[in-house]
Order: sequence, then C-alpha cells, then structure tokens
Amino acid sequence: IVRVVDLCKNYYLGDVLPVLRDLQLEIDEGDFVALMGPSGSGKSTLLNILGCLDRPTSGSYFLGEVDVSEMDDDALSDVRSRYLGFIFQSYNLLPQYTVVENIEIPLLYQGLELNDLTRARCVELAEMVGLAERLDHRPFQLSGGQQQRVAIARSLVNDPHVILADEPTGNLDSRTSDEIMQMLTDMNNAGKTIIMVTHENDIAAWARRVIRLRDGVIESDVRNRQ
Ligand code: ATP
Ligand code: MG
Repeated sequence: IVRVVDLCKNYYLGDVLPVLRDLQLEIDEGDFVALMGPSGSGKSTLLNILGCLDRPTSGSYFLGEVDVSEMDDDALSDVRSRYLGFIFQSYNLLPQYTVVENIEIPLLYQGLELNDLTRARCVELAEMVGLAERLDHRPFQLSGGQQQRVAIARSLVNDPHVILADEPTGNLDSRTSDEIMQMLTDMNNAGKTIIMVTHENDIAAWARRVIRLRDGVIESDVRNRQ
C-alpha cells in the first residue's frame, strides 16, 4: 500500500543537511510497522512524508497505485483527509472543543457536512475507545491516556487506509501505553495499516515489523514473531 523509491530528503540550513538518503521501502496493506532509530535519524521526517505532510526532495512515493510525490498541495491534502489518519505524541486535540467535536474535525477537513449521522458515528467511536461518559468533556478535563484515546477515535473517523502514529505512547505511563497499543493492535487486526514511530523496544514489540533507521538509511528490517 506504501512504496517509496529512491527517496531523498534534504533540509537547507545554510548548508545542505541530507536527512533521508536513497531510501527504498515497501509496506503491505494490513501491516503494522514500528519505525525505530536514534534521535535525529529521520524517523519523523519519513513519517511526515508517508503522511503527505511533507514532500521528498527527490524520489517517488506511491500510496496505493498513485504517485503522490507528483501531486499539488490541494490534491495532497485531499489524499490526507480521505486515506490517512494521524496520531501524535502530544495528542494535538483542540482545547476549546469537546471530545465529540474533536473526533469530528477530520470530517470537516474532508468537506463533509456535519449532521445527526456523522454525530452518531463520532459518538460511536468515542464509546469504542471507552469515553462514553465523557462526550462533552474538553481535553483539559481528561488524563493523557484519555486524550490519546480521543486522538485514536479521531484518526479513525474518516475510515483511513493507513494510520500514522509518531510516538503515540511517548507521554504515557507503561500501563496506559499498553492500553493504547492494544487499541492500535485491534485496529490493525481489523485491517488498518499502521506505521508507528517509537523509541521503546517494548512498544515496538507490538508491531509485526520493525524497521531501524540510522543516519537516514534503513539499518535493519525484521519481522516480529506473531
Ligand atoms: P527524534 O527521535 O528526536 O524525534 P527523528 O528520528 O524523528 O528524531 P527527525 O525529526 O526526522 O528525527 O530529524 C532528522 C534530522 O533532520 C535532524 O537532524 C533534525 O535536526 C533535522 N530536521 C528535522 N526537521 C527539520 C526542519 N524542518 N528544518 C531543518 N532541519 C530539520
Ligand atoms: Mg521524531
């Protein structure tokens, strides 16, 4: 579902800073990939490109059959809102909105009109992540784990093909992390392709496949025993 060919990414800070060097990567539909590697190795840069939040300097990126590296900004944001879901370390909820309203946000990006049906879907997702009692709470009234569950519900609302998660458990204690990883595992078992950045071996152990980056190249790529 994801195919990256000869991908390079440079940043320009006076000098050229090569961050990803000639990367080749294929990820099958339904896989669950953990991206690991030292700080600065390019994990977030790669995830942002895979999430169509950033563009490669050179090389191609195919999502499904489509070369998204050739698309203009509008087409790219359309791909994002239709096919991709995002989960971040810092949850990225909007503080002035309730749980249900936060879950609705991707539908607005998609240009959908909110109605009783979309509202019912968002309530259902909130219930699925265990927040039935908190539909009208705002993020500051929730624990970190609860906020991340809102973000998980939000990432699912557009029924994405691929979910990208950058250190989704980075701010959580180990018990709450396990709850979040169980949810991601359930989503993966339901058919979602998941690509997750993590620093922690314990977290990567939940994935089906672990890819390590070092200095912008893939250092290792192994399958976890199921
Ligand atoms: P961490 O584990 O600390 O999150 P990472 O593997 O996610 O690290 P990246 O965020 O991808 O690393 O950054 C890779 C390199 O690119 C780093 O040297 C970083 O300083 C640099 N970099 C990242 N974003 C930018 C930017 N917008 N402009 C310039 N340099 C950047
Ligand atoms: Mg990072």
